[in-house]
Amino acid sequence: MDKASAEKRAAELREIILKANDEYYNLDNPSLEDYEYDTLVRELREIEKAFPELAAESPLRKIGGEPSRLFSPVVHQVPMESLQDVFSFEELIDFDRRVRSVVPAPLYAVEAKVDGLSVSLEYENGRFVRGSTRGDGRTGEDVTANLMTISSIPKRLKNAPEFLEVRGEVFMPKTAFAELVKMQLDNDEEPFKNPRNAAAGSLRQKDSEITKSRKLDVIIFNVQQCSGKELSGHTESLQYLAELGFPTSHARLTNSIQEAIEEIKAIGEKRHEYPFDIDGAVIKVDDLAQRRLLGSTSKFPRWAAAFKYPPEIKETKLLDIEVEVGRTGVLTPTAVFEPVLLAGTSVSRASLHNQDFINEKGLALGDIIKVRKAGDIIPEIVGIAFSSGNPVYRLPQNCPACGQEAVRDESGVALRCVNEECPAKISRGLIHFASRDAMDIEGLGPAMINQLLSAGLVHSPADLYHLTAQQLLSLERTGDKSAQNLLAAIEKSKSNDLSKLVYGLGIRHIGQRAAALLAKRFGSMEALMNADRTAISAVEGFGGIMADSVVEYFAHPKNRELIEKLKAAGVNMNSTVEPTGNKLAGLTFVLTGSLSRERREYEEWIERLGGKAAGSVSKKTSYVVAGEGAGSKLTKANELGIKVLNEQELLALLEN
Ligand code: AMP
Ligand code: ZN
Repeated sequence: MDKASAEKRAAELREIILKANDEYYNLDNPSLEDYEYDTLVRELREIEKAFPELAAESPLRKIGGEPSRLFSPVVHQVPMESLQDVFSFEELIDFDRRVRSVVPAPLYAVEAKVDGLSVSLEYENGRFVRGSTRGDGRTGEDVTANLMTISSIPKRLKNAPEFLEVRGEVFMPKTAFAELVKMQLDNDEEPFKNPRNAAAGSLRQKDSEITKSRKLDVIIFNVQQCSGKELSGHTESLQYLAELGFPTSHARLTNSIQEAIEEIKAIGEKRHEYPFDIDGAVIKVDDLAQRRLLGSTSKFPRWAAAFKYPPEIKETKLLDIEVEVGRTGVLTPTAVFEPVLLAGTSVSRASLHNQDFINEKGLALGDIIKVRKAGDIIPEIVGIAFSSGNPVYRLPQNCPACGQEAVRDESGVALRCVNEECPAKISRGLIHFASRDAMDIEGLGPAMINQLLSAGLVHSPADLYHLTAQQLLSLERTGDKSAQNLLAAIEKSKSNDLSKLVYGLGIRHIGQRAAALLAKRFGSMEALMNADRTAISAVEGFGGIMADSVVEYFAHPKNRELIEKLKAAGVNMNSTVEPTGNKLAGLTFVLTGSLSRERREYEEWIERLGGKAAGSVSKKTSYVVAGEGAGSKLTKANELGIKVLNEQELLALLEN
């Protein structure tokens, strides 16, 4: 590579990596997979090694040069290999020929290829002791705490061998994914692209509470290592794993490549019926001794192949583009097209995200477009099949609900209606306030809210608490019983925990989890309202964008007034969850060397007190806590002049 092209590529990589870091740290919404991220980081590192002069402004310096940013590395004793991809039945027949040149009469097991992320789970005497991601196949990341939250992963096995390592796929079921995306859209957040990204993003969380809320699941498909039990075949291993209590992959044993192909076709035909997204079928030589004979190339085993199903893409006509106003005022365009059958259901709408997306695809009304379902769930426009020749669609400059001129978002991508009185925003805001995850007011759905709005009975959430039976009875289709029920539901919502109220306010970037963290950390609305940016950004998992958003919200007199009114109406303003201190707010600790307690225990303690625990030493580190045998991190701390504490000093700081 010459200098000029290295420079160009490095600039591209930097941009992608910086964006990925921001998505990961600040927005909690990674669009790159871990593996992709790691690959890009590796590529950039190599360029910078070859051309050191290009390294000056590298983002790799910021992240301490560690591709795995949050978790400790785990070296896989048995490499977690990838699979060779095949896209046609001819290639499968070639595969069979290569297998037969080594083992003359193979039996093939065929199973669905789950589209999630690969993990290794280790059990000692039946106890789940460690779980890790695949990483680059040789070294992954320790995500034990997060895997512990997945209920289908057995934590204890009955009649287990002394040591067992299994491999499986962690995934987000389609229903959980659909729910999560709905919630993200409702919060005007950029949703996850597909269940695999959602699973990856949820598993690589520093806060395992978030992982827990994401409803991940697992399917185990291999024994990596096992001491104390002889296994001779794949299907036999799966049977054994099922007996131990694992949810396992269902493999069908076939006698010939023809039979295997039939099974692959059959899985392909029912692929949409699986509760999870599958992107192919895997064919594996069943006999483990034959597998050993076949061995592996540098990348993948010679005894298996992944058949990838072509994505289902349909052509249809783009009829209309509807523009809706979200709760935070974002104008979102939705494509309306002639209905097509995709993944077993009729589809006629797809989100177009924003003007940039429309421009990128060059969409115009009347075009014949290509559509598919991302992750088997979310309808998506892939591109244009035939252009109508009409001009590319432009979003209106004015809010379709209130007519006020829309303004460009700070990101430069979205258009937003900033009119505080916009009826669409008020309506969406009330719907959000009353929704189940927020104030949970039963009977107060979109229809009722719009009725109340048009009757002029409510303007803001605080008005809900002054509604009378008489007023409700004046509405069409509202009887005595439903009026009483609604009033009771409104009354009941007064005693909700603070976290539900904080979420219900609909502060930008503050989802349900973030609201719960805020409530837990600050304990009362009063304390939260008066917290400054530093204190808020010290909450684990909070980036600058989220902290700014909270501060900005409470800086607004109108919002403060709303809180006052809610308080006067008797709405609970306190957290029932024990408040945690924040005496370590703004301080970042790095723990290194061996300490007398588990490192994680100290990290959690630090976080409970409002501090941050980081994995690598940088200029931002406040203290390095060095135990026995501390190495490079201690050296780095001394180089940077960062204060070093011993365990006793840390305890003193935590305890008083
Ligand atoms: P790819 O990521 O396309 O290279 O495909 C290989 C990956 O498929 C492996 O790393 C596994 O994580 C995943 N996979 C999903 N289901 C299975 C299965 N039933 N057997 C083997 N691998 C699987
Ligand atoms: Zn408006």
